[in-house]
Amino acid sequence: MLRGGLIADGHGGDPFLGDVVIAGATITAVVPASVRPSGGYDAEIIDCTGRVIAPGFVDIHCHSDLSLLAYPDNESRITQGITTEVVGNCGMTPAPGNADAEGLARVISTIDVTPDLEWTWSGVAGWLQALDECSTATNVAAHVGHGSARFAVAGTSAAPLERSQLTALERELEEAFSAGVVGASLGLMYSPGESARTEELALVARVVAAHDGVLSAHLRDYRTSALRRSIDELADVVESDGPRLQVSHLRGVGGEPGFADALAHLETLRKSKDIAADAYPYVHGHTTLIQLLPPALRAAGPDAVVSACMADPATIAEHLASAGYTPEQIIIMKAAKTPDAVGLDLTGAEGDPWRWLVDLLVENQGMVDVAVESGLWSDVDQALATDWISIASDGTALNRTHRASAAHPRSWGAFSAGYRRLRQHGTPVGEAVRRLSTAPAARVGMISGIVSGHRADLVVFDDHTFDAAATFAEPARPSVGLDHVYVNGTAVVGAGRPTAARPGTLIRRRQQ
Ligand SMILES: [Zn+2]
Repeated sequence: MLRGGLIADGHGGDPFLGDVVIAGATITAVVPASVRPSGGYDAEIIDCTGRVIAPGFVDIHCHSDLSLLAYPDNESRITQGITTEVVGNCGMTPAPGNADAEGLARVISTIDVTPDLEWTWSGVAGWLQALDECSTATNVAAHVGHGSARFAVAGTSAAPLERSQLTALERELEEAFSAGVVGASLGLMYSPGESARTEELALVARVVAAHDGVLSAHLRDYRTSALRRSIDELADVVESDGPRLQVSHLRGVGGEPGFADALAHLETLRKSKDIAADAYPYVHGHTTLIQLLPPALRAAGPDAVVSACMADPATIAEHLASAGYTPEQIIIMKAAKTPDAVGLDLTGAEGDPWRWLVDLLVENQGMVDVAVESGLWSDVDQALATDWISIASDGTALNRTHRASAAHPRSWGAFSAGYRRLRQHGTPVGEAVRRLSTAPAARVGMISGIVSGHRADLVVFDDHTFDAAATFAEPARPSVGLDHVYVNGTAVVGAGRPTAARPGTLIRRRQQ
């Protein structure tokens, strides 16, 4: 029994004092203090005096597809209160397409932060089975990545799909839904998914709608001035009766004004279609370095970029220099062949920083990840002030032992930092909790909230002190002010420390 806490049940209303009773993996009673039975329960009592009891946080946009298998203790997520992760975002999944595992690994290199992990599966069903059989601290659900599905049928070709290829793509998506994914994701800035145009996008939307799934979309262009056009491209392929469209990590890139116009436009579209968004509370994005190059240059993928770098390094350096950022604003996050560069910003480069980036691209075969300070805090706060925008991390499952890449602090602190920022800007406790738990869960068709009969995924924290501690310099720092986290009724964090328990399960769409 979680006793005497302030229960924020996930429905957004004012929290109330009371007890939450758990038996096995299930919440069996929610008892307001005003009606607490005098006899009490024969239960282990967890004193929650002065603490908020909330539903476990649900991260519907993360990239733990592979790293969860490498780090099943998942410290980066449980220490910020996340109890369920939805993987398979931005069009990238380690299946389908893994018949050519090496080729697919290059396509999804930005989410492949655990190079030593063996890919043992075949197809989406096999990958989901691997997630299912791995006992993990958190629950996990998955999307199928459109980019990976496209890779399965057409490789890295940038050409429009032919009729037979569209049919094959549809079959890949259908198979993924049969295996139990909760939706499909698009990554319209990444090769080869970015080569999809209207007909192909409409096909994806149609399949997702037929399965009552969610279409989770990394837009084609996040520059503030391009947001409206990028949103319309997707709004045009969803119907009023589906699928649900989730605009992923909504932000304005490039520091231009006009983010409010994009929000207003979404607000208008929401009147006739089921569209919502998620956001993370940081101004640094994290993406592949080749994203800083013009689309025409990067569309053919990292190999083509490397060839261009070798043929004419000065021109590529010029492109990078004119992307709109200063050397201080770019941090190297992943560069497997040049580990000494990881964690540096460009002021750490020897000689011309842009030319140094070109060399890094060549040495790493085009696969370099960067964090870029590309957003405005005022945009972040406008997003957080919007009641249909929930928190999502865009981060990944990690443990403190992780060394293969630098971690964006969002992997360890998006939810605690998001809660703190919401509270600092006057969002009431109940509404802030809703935006971290039931609101995102509903987007992926998942049941959540502190209700008798629901799975006992719960978080106990101090409203006054709960906050992130992770920084770029020290990303692997657990959040502060978090007391207990329960996944399926078992403590994964107890008295502020990970317990090493792994009660998480794979949540398949058809089980719900
Ligand atoms: Zn993305």
